[in-house]
Amino acid sequence: SRTCLYAQKRCVAAAAAKPATQKVGNTKLYVNGEFFESQTDKWFELRNPATQELVTMVPQATPAELEHASRTAAEAFKTWRKSSVLARQRIMLNLQLLVRDHMDELAISITTEQGKTFADAKGDVLRGLQVVENACGIPSLLMGEQLPVATDMDTFTIREPLGVVAGIAPFNFPAMIPLWMFPLAIATGNTCVMKPSERDPGAMMLLAKLAEQAGVPKGVLNVVHGGVDTVNFLCDDPAVKAISFVGSDHAGKYIFARGTANGKRVQANLGAKNHGVIMPDANKNHTLNQLVGAAFGAAGQRCMALSTAVFVGKAKDWLPELVERAAKLKVTGGFEKGADLGPMITSQAKERCHQLIQSGVDEGATLLLDGRNIKMAEKYKDGNFVGPTILSGVTPSMKCYTEEIFGPVLVCLFAETLDDAIKMVNSNPYGNGTAIFTNSGAIARKFTEQIDVGQVGVNVPIPVPLPMFSFTGSRGSIQGDLNFYGKSGVQFYTSTKTITQLWRHEDATSSQADVNMPTQH
Ligand code: NAD
Repeated sequence: SRTCLYAQKRCVAAAAAKPATQKVGNTKLYVNGEFFESQTDKWFELRNPATQELVTMVPQATPAELEHASRTAAEAFKTWRKSSVLARQRIMLNLQLLVRDHMDELAISITTEQGKTFADAKGDVLRGLQVVENACGIPSLLMGEQLPVATDMDTFTIREPLGVVAGIAPFNFPAMIPLWMFPLAIATGNTCVMKPSERDPGAMMLLAKLAEQAGVPKGVLNVVHGGVDTVNFLCDDPAVKAISFVGSDHAGKYIFARGTANGKRVQANLGAKNHGVIMPDANKNHTLNQLVGAAFGAAGQRCMALSTAVFVGKAKDWLPELVERAAKLKVTGGFEKGADLGPMITSQAKERCHQLIQSGVDEGATLLLDGRNIKMAEKYKDGNFVGPTILSGVTPSMKCYTEEIFGPVLVCLFAETLDDAIKMVNSNPYGNGTAIFTNSGAIARKFTEQIDVGQVGVNVPIPVPLPMFSFTGSRGSIQGDLNFYGKSGVQFYTSTKTITQLWRHEDATSSQADVNMPTQH
């Protein structure tokens, strides 16, 4: 007796096509070095978004299983916290090699469960792998500060792990985002309970296997599954000291509020609406290619997708050519040769995308390219495909501008001047990423200085920082102060202890106690 937790149309439609008896492997839980079947009676159907084929069933872990994961992680912390930083470095060195060696296997899982193209799925793994590579430098990253502050007196800092930390990941980067979380959490001496997205947990399961092969001891990394019930457990469980979350505004604000109310440290990366500002002096060929790639790649399901183009002055004359290039993109299953974009994650996401496109039309925007009702080959006719779509003449009050569409839709706005464009971007509540396309250093300089967005590209459409830096989305795109990966990531997963010590060779000469506040001068 199984309850399907997705009351989704696609489940119903696909269930009719596929007999319920179809045998698929259930996604396992991973606790204390063991992969095992959940005892739950609540399951999420996971269907290939390109074909609706049933891939696996994902469990809503039971309260007892969640408890088991958290207790195991808490127990493992007692010894893991004492492990040497060099031992942890060696594990990271092993892990980076294993992830590289299993890149194809990971990417196959991603394309099958998430839908993005195989080439793009490898990029997903690679961007996560770079965080592991950076974590290989953990001895240097963990170094504290030291200063002799007075005669015979030294002050120094050490960074200590927090305990059990939890990671809650979204569907759109099934490898990269879990890799933003657990490698650094473990390398800094914490133990970890990961909850990948219930829509595509396959990559995380493979990563857990690789982590084990790399030498991560039993109980240090655990993986649980589920939806809101699992999230609530992680937000409330006293053993969990910190939560890393990436996903939508709705879930993130809820998790931030509930987790911090329970005294936990929470970093929550949220939604986005990223603007590309196109100046008329930009290199046209480069700009149009970058815009098309960044708006429609991964079917627009990247938090750093350039979903909003602001054409300044005469740059808007390039629109017909932009449409031409976008129309040429090949929309098909992610494993097909030459595929540019695959399907959206669910039929609901596709339907919502259709509705937002229609809302733009209804509110007076011009539909220059319509990807709705795209004709697909027989094999993909049930897939959640939406073709590249371009709406022009969009204004900031329209719903297709105020909402994150998270699909292959580029909304185009016009601005008279650079100042107008900057004002428009800064008035948007989100601050994840933005880019300017120009050949003028002075324009670029002004833009980078005046723009109120945490990650800025100059002729670079998706300026996701490499992991020696941090992912610094700002304003409405983040809750919490400490960013993912880089120095900030190390700070998030550790607390600083400051030690002041006095070691004096001579005996004290006075017998009088000093009761004033020690100033140590
Ligand atoms: P989502 O919020 O639906 O899911 C993220 C996680 O939260 C999942 O593990 C899910 O199980 C859980 N969750 C979902 N709804 C919940 C609820 N009501 N209460 C508690 N937990 C809940 O997000 P998604 O659809 O998987 O991912 C897409 C979103 O993530 C987009 O908004 C995108 O912009 C954002 N995102 C942001 C970044 C960033 O760094 N800013 C990166 C990637 C994705």
